[in-house]
Amino acid sequence: MLQDKDRIFTNIYGLKDRSLAGARARGHWDGTADIIKKGRDWIVDEMKGSGLRGRGGAGFPTGLKWSFMPKESDGRPAYLVVNADESEPGTCKDREILRHDPHTLIEGCLLASFAMGAHESYIYIRGEFIREREALQAAIDECYDAGLLGKNAAGSGWDFDLFVHHGAGAYICGEETALLESLEGKKGMPRMKPPFPAGAGLYGCPTTVNNVESIAVVPTVLRRGGAWFASFGRPNNTGTKLFAVSGHVNKPCVVEESMSIPFKELIDRHCGGIRGGWDNLKAVIPGGSSVPLLPADIAKDAIMDFDWLKEQRSGLGTAAVIVMDQSTDVVKAIWRLAKFYKHESCGQCTPCREGTGWMMRVMERLVRGEAEIEEIDMLFDVTKQVEGHTICALGDAAAWPIQGLIRHFRDEIEYRIRKEPGIAAE
Ligand code: SF4
Repeated sequence: MLQDKDRIFTNIYGLKDRSLAGARARGHWDGTADIIKKGRDWIVDEMKGSGLRGRGGAGFPTGLKWSFMPKESDGRPAYLVVNADESEPGTCKDREILRHDPHTLIEGCLLASFAMGAHESYIYIRGEFIREREALQAAIDECYDAGLLGKNAAGSGWDFDLFVHHGAGAYICGEETALLESLEGKKGMPRMKPPFPAGAGLYGCPTTVNNVESIAVVPTVLRRGGAWFASFGRPNNTGTKLFAVSGHVNKPCVVEESMSIPFKELIDRHCGGIRGGWDNLKAVIPGGSSVPLLPADIAKDAIMDFDWLKEQRSGLGTAAVIVMDQSTDVVKAIWRLAKFYKHESCGQCTPCREGTGWMMRVMERLVRGEAEIEEIDMLFDVTKQVEGHTICALGDAAAWPIQGLIRHFRDEIEYRIRKEPGIAAE
């Protein structure tokens, strides 16, 4: 179990003073200039040594991503863009950083930007996050007043400006290239890759897009050392992690824990157990709505990290854990996700535009029990035609929950078709 002394987020529940004075009292903004004076290479190496993998869902190594940024500028500016568009159903961890612990993120922006040669950074915040934006902006204003941002930021010799941009609430703007399009004032539609943002990102300039949590842990990792961060979790799955547990547990919560914590320990220690006891568990979506669910017998033994969950053909994603007990109509739950992805498709590539609607309509009939048994395989086949055949990962995100349902709950779908026609999808 993670001890309090090893927690990076010391005000995640908003119980303490979130102002600059409060943050400083808890150890933030301590020796920031000294870290910068150690140089770009030292910071990138330390981040690589920490083993930090991106906390936005994909799990790409953060230090490695930073190292893709050009060492010497060809005249173009470089940018760090922070993805605060947290919109994945079930995911509610970054908003706690934004509204309760914003200085972890702001200090992280300065350090990360310096490490990639950026004098400017943008935080793209979800449209619905009004109070979060206000809290973040107030914290940024405090930093400007205190000389921590702007010219010679924090006395480091590095000039650095930080801007907050408020989105308009489209889920697809959380995809990094759609986010850049939106930031440039265009429609939030994903770009074809390559070129990747490190070569041509915001305004055609070298850009790194990182998740809020990935950047917010940076100051503490650099202060305490990459080896300290790497001491938590399993190899290749290191560090501390915010888990956002929702659904049928007794006490849903966001909690910082050690990576690779067993699912059982996470639920019993922090969430008061499963509603109605462990025998009442039916299924778990372990990483936000886009990863395939796991049935109770697998979930009970789960190790909550990237590699273990991938081996079970699911994923850690954003570590948004959605727990479903026996009262859940699991077919209907996945239909609801299919409806979400259909609604959020940007529509520019055919398999996603047509496929998400097609999958949703078949799911609707499966919920009602009005489909034919053969359509289950047909649906699975269509998910395979969507998966991997689209510009961005939304196509995969729409396909995977349905694949997980058919893989693990086929009996329930068939039972519905044979025995219980007429259950309505709302
Ligand atoms: Fe748009 Fe869907 Fe294609 Fe992504 S996969 S670019 S959301 S149509």
